[in-house]
Amino acid sequence: MTGTLPADLRLCAVSAGADDVLRSRLYPAPERPSRTAFQRDRERIVQARAFRRLAGKTQVFTSRASDHFRSRLTHTIEVAQIARCVAQTLGLDEDLAEALALVHDIGHPPFGHAGERALDECLKRHGLRFDHNLHALRIVEHFEQRYAAHRGLNLTLGVREGIVKHSRDYSADQHPELAAYLLGRRPPLEAQIIDLADEIAYLTADLDDGVESGLLEIGHIRDHVEILTHCYDEVEREHRGLDAKVLFNEALQLMQNVLTDDLIATTLANARAIGAASLDDVRDHPSRLATFSPLAESYRVLEKRYLYDVLYTCSALSLEHDKAEEVVTALFDFWIGEPQELPSGYVEQIETEGLARVVADYIAGMTDSFILLQYAQIKRTIRR
Ligand code: MG
Repeated sequence: MTGTLPADLRLCAVSAGADDVLRSRLYPAPERPSRTAFQRDRERIVQARAFRRLAGKTQVFTSRASDHFRSRLTHTIEVAQIARCVAQTLGLDEDLAEALALVHDIGHPPFGHAGERALDECLKRHGLRFDHNLHALRIVEHFEQRYAAHRGLNLTLGVREGIVKHSRDYSADQHPELAAYLLGRRPPLEAQIIDLADEIAYLTADLDDGVESGLLEIGHIRDHVEILTHCYDEVEREHRGLDAKVLFNEALQLMQNVLTDDLIATTLANARAIGAASLDDVRDHPSRLATFSPLAESYRVLEKRYLYDVLYTCSALSLEHDKAEEVVTALFDFWIGEPQELPSGYVEQIETEGLARVVADYIAGMTDSFILLQYAQIKRTIRR
């Protein structure tokens, strides 16, 4: 399936690529003849400090027991290549899809989802919440400072809308501050495919890293993850006698291809079924058009449940999660009590943003190693 579809099947007509409003920026920026607006956004994202910090943030495994575990940066690159492949095959705007994939996890705090949960719990005590999509928007709109004329990266509306809406819909009643992002309408397909490219990437990678960690066994996965059972059987028929780890790697690649092809075929079929002929048709449809087929969706749900039961909640990772929670909560409480100990740039923001949000912003930006260093220093301060 991957490659380029015949011209009459491609979804170029519904692509966001030609939409002038989506290519617009808050601050005027002269066009560059060598690059499109979305290619320039991709460069701005890759050059952002928050993007570089993804290299030091947990995807699933905080421990450095293996150099082969995904970091949030390598996960991001895997999502980008899947998203680009899907967009290119369907005739969508590859550069917009790639930019959105590269920025999709930029708002994640240290320690993966455990860090995010802990930060959210801390903020709840102050009547606030932590949401990594909304935090990503704060990063690209306010925190990155690379340009003389404005704060933030001055990304196109298309990329900013995709940051907000790629993985979930926000209600206009609860989030009036997001009114510019057309909350009542679906995002373009380039944004819709990001969430599913993300799923494909981690469903593949977490089995791989799980086996690398020794917490998952190939035989157990093969017996319990239905899509992997089918893929493993197929590669075993083709490559009899090969080492189990090589067969497993082949099976993972096949699984990723099966899910990617399914996303492409199902999204195409959904768009054709409603006769989508413009971006407005995508936006006005009551549900998202980028989906897996019912069979692939059932595989996805089954595997996700397996990963949750056998890997994410196993005792070794639970210990890492407990430590993450302890570190995030202790630092949050310390700076709430001693705001003068925050870096001066953050102290200045307390008046406009409120102390709890500023402390959360500071913590959310940290890498795993930086937050552990802060924790060690502050424990010494408290003991004095
Ligand atoms: Mg992700």
